[in-house]
Amino acid sequence: MIRSTAVETDDDLDARMLSTLNHVFGLSSFRGHQERIIRHVADGGDALVLMPTGGGKSLCYQLPALLRNGCGIVVSPLIALMRDQVAGLLEAGVRAAALNSSLSYPEADAIERQLLAGELDLLYVAPERLLTPRCLSMLARAKLSLFAIDEAHCVSQWGHDFRPEYVGLSAIADKFPNVPRIALTATADALTRREIAERLSLTDAPCFVSSFDRPNIRYAIVDKQNAPAQLKAFIADKHVGDSGVVYCLSRAKVEDTADTLCKAGITALPYHAGLPAEIRARNQDRFINEDGVVIVATIAFGMGIDKPDVRFVAHLDLPKSIEAYYQETGRAGRDGKPSDAWMAYGLSDIVQQRRMIDESTGSDAFKRVSMGKLDALVGLCESTGCRRTRLLGYFGETAAQERCGNCDNCLTPPKVIDGTVAAQKLLSCAYRTGQRFGAQHLIDVLLGRLTERVGQFGHDKLSVFGIGGEFNEKQWRAVIRQLVSLGHLAPDSEAFGALKFTESSRAVLKGESQVMLREQPAGRPPRAKSRRGDLVGAAPRETAGDPELFAALKAWRAGVARERGVPAYVVLHDATMDGIAAARPRSLDELRGIPGIGDKKLEHYGAALLAVIDNTRR
Ligand code: ADP
Ligand code: ZN
Repeated sequence: MIRSTAVETDDDLDARMLSTLNHVFGLSSFRGHQERIIRHVADGGDALVLMPTGGGKSLCYQLPALLRNGCGIVVSPLIALMRDQVAGLLEAGVRAAALNSSLSYPEADAIERQLLAGELDLLYVAPERLLTPRCLSMLARAKLSLFAIDEAHCVSQWGHDFRPEYVGLSAIADKFPNVPRIALTATADALTRREIAERLSLTDAPCFVSSFDRPNIRYAIVDKQNAPAQLKAFIADKHVGDSGVVYCLSRAKVEDTADTLCKAGITALPYHAGLPAEIRARNQDRFINEDGVVIVATIAFGMGIDKPDVRFVAHLDLPKSIEAYYQETGRAGRDGKPSDAWMAYGLSDIVQQRRMIDESTGSDAFKRVSMGKLDALVGLCESTGCRRTRLLGYFGETAAQERCGNCDNCLTPPKVIDGTVAAQKLLSCAYRTGQRFGAQHLIDVLLGRLTERVGQFGHDKLSVFGIGGEFNEKQWRAVIRQLVSLGHLAPDSEAFGALKFTESSRAVLKGESQVMLREQPAGRPPRAKSRRGDLVGAAPRETAGDPELFAALKAWRAGVARERGVPAYVVLHDATMDGIAAARPRSLDELRGIPGIGDKKLEHYGAALLAVIDNTRR
């Protein structure tokens, strides 16, 4: 790569930026704000960068580090993340290394010597290590091009990922006033943003805010009935042979779900804090390194998972907030290819989350805030409008269009019906049974089922017994769920499962307020069969190009990855293989034009790739 030696003009810098992008990273153009950010930092400026997951943050500090003299220091919280980034950079011919607790003394020593000799372009360092006197003194003796603070929201006490060791990073600005600092995060809210800027002395630096939209992710939220069966059907329908993450709330449910999927022929592995560390590590490694592994996990899983080709994220339980939901679903489709965020949600989710808040040891203020966040998420689940517009709106962003065309509500707009009479029947049933019963009993009474309990309490003698024949059980469940989310009915925090009146219940009962409900079709959810008719275990998802070539490339890549001990995507991204499968390049020159093929990849793999292409000639 070409480094600057003397004063250069803007045109020179632009030319070097493009040339490095092209030759080192194999990419032809910048995305979004990348170009502005890179020019600004390469020019010696500080910056705060807010970009969604998959937006391309890494390039924003990697490229300026290559364009400036000296070594770029990247502060990163997770060893696994550093390892993969360094492996990817080495592949591209960048002189990169990482300093963290997994190194032996001689290994660390060798890296230090390289740094001081000016033989490194990028050095990843864990924050606690960076702040040791020894490391600071080493950095003071080295020539540094910049500091990049990745996952910068970890500095925020209010964030969801506070790391005490990040607070000490404020020392960087004092100790290295002449080295540019760039802080990067995918966490959007204003409070966190302000805290990052203050703690890292970036209040005077420009803040580059990208849209948080992830247009390649399709959002869908379905009515929960038999969640494991629904999940199986979803995978069989759209994601045979794909990598995915399934989130559950409890360890037991993680185990059960992984079991159910395995029995259906899906490679599913559990991940939760109750598993021995080595099993967790092994399952995580398999998920990262192999193709087509589904990980079933509690929220303990995911932070720092950089895998670009996760094709779906499924929630079998409701998260705590829209922030958590957006972050978790954001792990899908970092590579920009079509991906799904799918959630099954039901009344029990609302009841469970409310109870967890009620029973938490937090202050009243904390509980109030938590309830508010939960309500916002339930609002998203019940919404009949565009999910994306609503999500972006929650983060203070106005969507480009009113309807995105890539969420369930846009693709199949739900019918909204006047549910006032149904609501009145339900409320009246809850009232006459003393507001002491849960959804199942209320439904039994409305449907005129003489269960043991109904008989025991004499509820078959009530006027509401059997007045709900217009709906089936599933439809009544949806009515109850919506009444709870609309606030016309509330789970009783004293008597578990019981549903009681709220301030607005009477107005509905008296016909003073109308209740609009999302229509619930009477039918059952789709069977576990794919559109193509394949059952689980059949051929993987097609590529835009030649599927046979894509499969051959995948097999070749798996071999190389195994031999080299790196994740498959470090060798080549899916998107790059897609490009090859579509273009079928016949020469090194043509191969060079595929996004993701830089000089080094061409040199290392060019001949092998042409051979794979040649062997699958049609
Ligand atoms: P983030 O750290 O913001 O989640 P990454 O830096 O990991 O995102 O980039 C996500 C993906 O986008 C990577 O696969 C990367 O190769 C790709 N990418 C980044 N910038 C570009 C670009 N200008 N053109 C094409 N692909 C890009
Ligand atoms: Zn939409």
